[in-house]
Amino acid sequence: MPTHTTRFAPSPTGWLHLGHAYAALFAADRAGDGRFLVRLEDIDATRARPEYEAGIFEDLSWLGLKWEQPVIRQSEHVAVYRAGLEKLRALGLLYPCFCTRKEIQHEIAQAGNAPHGPDGPLYPGTCRGKSAAEGEERIASGEAYALRLDVVKAMALAGKELSWIDRAHGAFTATPAIFGDVVLARKDTPASYHLAVVLDDARQGVTRVTRGEDLLPATHLHRLLIDLLGLPVPEWEHHRLILDDQGRRLAKRDDARSLRTLREQGWTAEMVRKELGI
Ligand code: GLU
Repeated sequence: MPTHTTRFAPSPTGWLHLGHAYAALFAADRAGDGRFLVRLEDIDATRARPEYEAGIFEDLSWLGLKWEQPVIRQSEHVAVYRAGLEKLRALGLLYPCFCTRKEIQHEIAQAGNAPHGPDGPLYPGTCRGKSAAEGEERIASGEAYALRLDVVKAMALAGKELSWIDRAHGAFTATPAIFGDVVLARKDTPASYHLAVVLDDARQGVTRVTRGEDLLPATHLHRLLIDLLGLPVPEWEHHRLILDDQGRRLAKRDDARSLRTLREQGWTAEMVRKELGI
């Protein structure tokens, strides 16, 4: 098997469950003799908790995994995200958005037939045409804002079709406009998932990004960000999701399926692998 650098990138916002076990074991397997990294996606400081972080290491060790040190915490690398944002800003691809959730919903309801993306209705572009002076003034006055990517402008700047390969699903041409003008940062959040993940994977030298199929659409946007930021293009492999008895994907609130609960009930790592079909 070719050698890869892969990573498992959980958020320390809950206990790991069987779905995380599958993602972690899958990533470690795809590294082959290469590097397997763990990255803590704790950029949402309001939800990340130290006990969940400790739980992640405990659960992964219990599963028999070994990962490279040191482990990167997103919260400790805010300068990297700021630099990425600055690059996009200098290209003229970001604009501040001052709309509240309510205002956006109202605008979408008014429009009637609003286009939908993987995460719901697309932002209607209310703040896109505002002057830079107005934006600067409102930011300086302390107003809350999000920084959005002008996706049409960004695709025009990329200027070519962007392709990407998923080892399980084949070749794709990137269609980042499915997300509309996505939020890349907020006043108090230095980077959204989309921005942080491409910058982190690049600087950690990740060559194969493995994660659940629920994030396959996001890769269309990531491929564009990678191009705009001049980052190396990895390959991807989106894997199946682990479902509960009702066929729903596991969520952090399903404590009954958390690895620590299973362990307390006497499960072994071997039993987890068997349950996951590994
Ligand atoms: N923190 C993300 C999650 O838990 C990781 C997604 C990814 O691997 O890109 O879903």
